[in-house]
Amino acid sequence: MSNVKGSLYIVATPIGHLADISLRAIDVLKNVDLIAAEDTRNSKKLLNEYSIQTKMTAYHEHNEDKKSATLLEKLSDGSSIALISDAGTPLINDPGYSLVQKAHAMDIKVVPIPGACALITALSSSGLATARFSFEGFLPRTSSARRTALEVYLKDSKTLVFYESSHRIVATLEDIQAVFEPTRKMAIARELTKTFETIVSGSVVDVVGQAQADKNMQRGEFVVLVEGVQKKGNKSAELSDASINTLKVLLQECSLKTAVKLAVDLTGEPKKALYSLALTLTGK
Ligand code: SAM
Repeated sequence: MSNVKGSLYIVATPIGHLADISLRAIDVLKNVDLIAAEDTRNSKKLLNEYSIQTKMTAYHEHNEDKKSATLLEKLSDGSSIALISDAGTPLINDPGYSLVQKAHAMDIKVVPIPGACALITALSSSGLATARFSFEGFLPRTSSARRTALEVYLKDSKTLVFYESSHRIVATLEDIQAVFEPTRKMAIARELTKTFETIVSGSVVDVVGQAQADKNMQRGEFVVLVEGVQKKGNKSAELSDASINTLKVLLQECSLKTAVKLAVDLTGEPKKALYSLALTLTGK
């Protein structure tokens, strides 16, 4: 038995495209003593692809507590272990919380090896605001519970990010349409990094309509995103990006009054909204 504790590596693996794995992740997976995988048969494909011969053991939601104890014992004895899930970043709607929490409590070093994660991949390509967002995982399974949950988010100003499976995508989208205003922006990111990757962004009424009309849009794995509520009185939220840029350029060349007047003429946007944004941009 060694006195030096081993390290626990939290290794992100691809969410579809097998090339989306870091050089460091491959190196760690090749060199640890053991890989704890959510589904060893599923992960075998990835390991074969990169000629990784490290021994695997199953670590999933049904044996999480018991298996954590065994893995922590091995780590205490000096073994290094990598935790991987079926896809993406472990612990993000995947097993591992119990293991990482206990590892910290036992002073075992936890080393993150970052990589793909469906929520970040979807958010960054959704066209929705990214500065503040709230990841909510899977919504409840029944429609009534789902609508109740969605109503709680109605006043949230952060971009909302949900995971959804093909079984419930249509029902979930219908509930989103029932709860949120039709003009609220939203996005669906489907089959990210895979052959049939589709990212649709627009108003709730448009996006849900497109998904309802196209059976292909109802297959695969999904991230569903809904824009946060826009603050009342934040008139500039109504302006398009192009109009905002036009106003910015004009403000560099003209007085505030002239810039707003020209911007109204050029963009056709409401004077109130442009004036309010001009005040914000010039700090008045
Ligand atoms: N740990 C994973 C991660 O880092 O994203 C998430 C695991 S969670 C059990 C599986 C869910 O993630 C799917 O039902 C889907 O909502 C989302 N997901 C995973 N891969 C995806 C992909 N390629 N495209 C869209 N959504 C995906």
